[in-house]
Amino acid sequence: MNALNADLHCHSTASDGTLAPADVVRRAAANGVDLLALTDHDELLGLPEAAAAAAELGLRFVPGVEISVSWLDQTLHIVGLGIDPSNVALIEGLAQVRGGRDGRAARIAAELERIGIRGAMEGALRYAGNPALVSRAHFARFLVEIGASRNVHDVFLHYLARGKPGYVEHVWATLEDAVGWIKGAGGLAVIAHPGRYRLSHAEMDILFDRFRELGGDAVEVACGAHDGGQLLAFARLARKFGLMASRASDFHGPEDSPIDLGRADPLPPDLTPVWTRLN
Ligand code: AMP
Ligand code: MN
Ligand code: MN
Ligand code: MN
Repeated sequence: MNALNADLHCHSTASDGTLAPADVVRRAAANGVDLLALTDHDELLGLPEAAAAAAELGLRFVPGVEISVSWLDQTLHIVGLGIDPSNVALIEGLAQVRGGRDGRAARIAAELERIGIRGAMEGALRYAGNPALVSRAHFARFLVEIGASRNVHDVFLHYLARGKPGYVEHVWATLEDAVGWIKGAGGLAVIAHPGRYRLSHAEMDILFDRFRELGGDAVEVACGAHDGGQLLAFARLARKFGLMASRASDFHGPEDSPIDLGRADPLPPDLTPVWTRLN
């Protein structure tokens, strides 16, 4: 097994996590993480604070981001690792992706209002540590607060998922742009939590093939969203398409994450860990 405890995907209050960037880093260090990437949604704002906290603790830190992408009729997430946070094309691309979030949040609130839930915009904003980055996770916390569901998991079953009230269609970045911004900023591009996408086997193959063609590097094989069967299935796809493997908790906070920082499963030993190419 790969002895390094790498966690290459997690969130802070710069997007929809509940801990400040420095607190994410402190918790990772306390959990025995050896190498950490902070990967907030469409946002680099938390990276300086996280990097400073990691330097203080002597924890190896990699700047990252998780970019929202529209592909076929799905939303995909592409993680960038080891990106240069001062890269202008990346900064401008992310600003453009974030720019769509306000209007989308207003449309989500309007949909919720139609089923009698008032004040959702203000409610979600109270949970948003970064007003430029209102996510469905913030709406979910508000819906739990008012008793619409028992927990965030149930909110996504009943409200904010496709086909449910409170879901609105939205166009994010293209796959080409997202991978291009990451590669242009010197980073490695990683398909995040592929087990969450509603794609057929054929579509998944097309995605992996296209991603590879665009210069994509790796796929999350071990991650909080995958069960043991999915881990094996995506390990097979990594081998088939010659992609490296990543390991990720996708931690959002102690309250509503399936696994804690540094607690993802180990990678199958024959795969090349993406961190062999970091720093
Ligand atoms: P957004 O980028 O605004 O569409 O929000 C997506 C975020 O909502 C994800 O990054 C998760 O934090 C959260 N989320 C999505 N689906 C679920 C789910 N089924 N259970 C819990 N959280 C979810
Ligand atoms: Mn999230
Ligand atoms: Mn994601
Ligand atoms: Mn994530």
